[in-house]
Amino acid sequence: MPDLPRLIADRSAPGDLVRPRADGRLECTACAHRCALPDGAHGLCGVRARRGDVLRVPFGYVAARRIRAVETNTVYHVVPGALALIVGMYGCDLRCPYCHNWRLSQALREPAEPAPPEAVAAAELADLAVASGCRVLAAAYNEPMIAAEWLHAVFGAARARGLATVIVSDGHTTREALEYLRPVTDVYRVDLKGYTDEQYRTLGGRLAPVLDAVATARSLGFWVEVVTLVVPSFNDDPAGLRWIATTLASIDPAIPWHLNGFHPRYRWRDRPRQGAGLLVSAAGTAYARGLHHVYVGNLADSVRALSHTRCPRCHEVVVERADYATIRVALRDGRCPACRTAVPGVWSAPAGVVPAAA
Ligand code: SF4
Repeated sequence: MPDLPRLIADRSAPGDLVRPRADGRLECTACAHRCALPDGAHGLCGVRARRGDVLRVPFGYVAARRIRAVETNTVYHVVPGALALIVGMYGCDLRCPYCHNWRLSQALREPAEPAPPEAVAAAELADLAVASGCRVLAAAYNEPMIAAEWLHAVFGAARARGLATVIVSDGHTTREALEYLRPVTDVYRVDLKGYTDEQYRTLGGRLAPVLDAVATARSLGFWVEVVTLVVPSFNDDPAGLRWIATTLASIDPAIPWHLNGFHPRYRWRDRPRQGAGLLVSAAGTAYARGLHHVYVGNLADSVRALSHTRCPRCHEVVVERADYATIRVALRDGRCPACRTAVPGVWSAPAGVVPAAA
């Protein structure tokens, strides 16, 4: 594909998530890198760039769009069984060596040939979702927050058509970006990729902003779910996984935590797959540490019983799943049919968030 940076520059608009600094540079506030840009410079993501006194940001296109079950985004407490229109763009603020969607996320760093951008208006995406029977519009594949302004437009149109909206993010973002998107966003799904700064340095980021984003998003009223992809010889220390469980429980024990198994891919094709034993053990520990909803997935041998949602009080199965698809919903108005306890989540669209039980 010819000249991707040029195509991206041609499809841009003035950004909102920016502030002037005393030294004359413009600080981008869309992600935790907070790039300070002199005129003509690009941020680390490669898709936001300063031109004069303006920060130009991605706008008016998608690089991928698919219609899939909402569960394929690893969100389990969000309109189970619904279809979602999932859109993605190019670029990322991180550079994970095991990225599933590296042809999009690393399109500006790798000699890959990603699909060309498709020019589209925000309202057209919302209309397409509705016409296709979707109840959810999700941003995924690359890091959505680096195109927060475009996301704001797309999600605003989606909300106006009665769709629930989901961001699938690496969590390496800022309070400013979360506050900016909160009015049009229901769900913030975060990848918490490790438990040490050294691990995050390998990925090109820092741990602290991701933990801050989980807590901030929850306090702002997003429905938050967290995914940890467990990679052999990278983030598979049981003590580290225990620390994540304890940390999440201290933020909000109702946050669902998904423990997913690594598959070899991209630059880490030589690593073995993650087996089920460690994940099942870590899930048990996480329940013991106070989390109410822990899931195990993405394994060669499915651990189906650990993909169901259970009532946090009586443990009745309230949503039954197989292979990232919902096969039975027993909830009644967001409550357990057996004991009537409220099960937290976004169970309907337009979104109605059921808070955690007191
Ligand atoms: S989104 Fe992040 S990486 Fe990109 S310009 Fe802004 S601060 Fe830099």
